[in-house]
Amino acid sequence: MTPTETVKFVHRLADLFPTFRYEAGTPDAWHKAGLAFVTPADASAAAINLARRQTFISLADLIGEIRRIRDERISAEPIPDPGTADPQLYKERVRAAVTRLGDGYGLGTHRALNAAPRRQGPPPAAYLQARGRTAEDETARAHRCPWPPCQAHPGASCVNPLGRPTAPHHARLVAAGLATPDTPGTLHPQLGTLPEELQ
Ligand SMILES: [Zn+2]
Repeated sequence: MTPTETVKFVHRLADLFPTFRYEAGTPDAWHKAGLAFVTPADASAAAINLARRQTFISLADLIGEIRRIRDERISAEPIPDPGTADPQLYKERVRAAVTRLGDGYGLGTHRALNAAPRRQGPPPAAYLQARGRTAEDETARAHRCPWPPCQAHPGASCVNPLGRPTAPHHARLVAAGLATPDTPGTLHPQLGTLPEELQ
């Protein structure tokens, strides 16, 4: 805020806070102590938030509330890739992006990195490994799980009795042509046999 905006803002505080007394030196002091670095919109929003829950206002409360508003805004958007390997420049660009986000300006992008061209075919081995899945699991996932208690849709993980993702059920492996139906009750080689009450 400019010094003039700060004067106007501090005057308005008397309407929001019955205990607030405008004094000639207040705008200048508050301006230097922090309000110079915030937008009029954030200062107003913070004052209104505070007025809802307290009848007095201090500069510390106000700055704290403004910081909370800014943090909320910053955490809602990814910081874009600074696009440099130079540590100093990297730091500067990240800081500038955080300031812009905090001030409420968009960065003109919702992506942390530039979008890569859409990959064709099955996911790479590293992707599967990181998720504890095998290429065989991926093939099975393309099919709907025919096991009645699960019936996971194509592309979705099979779920265990608690609804948590689990390795493809035996029936799904059979549907994908990866197993034979000669071992009824078997879920997956790693999972052993289905408990009798669930068969
Ligand atoms: Zn399943």
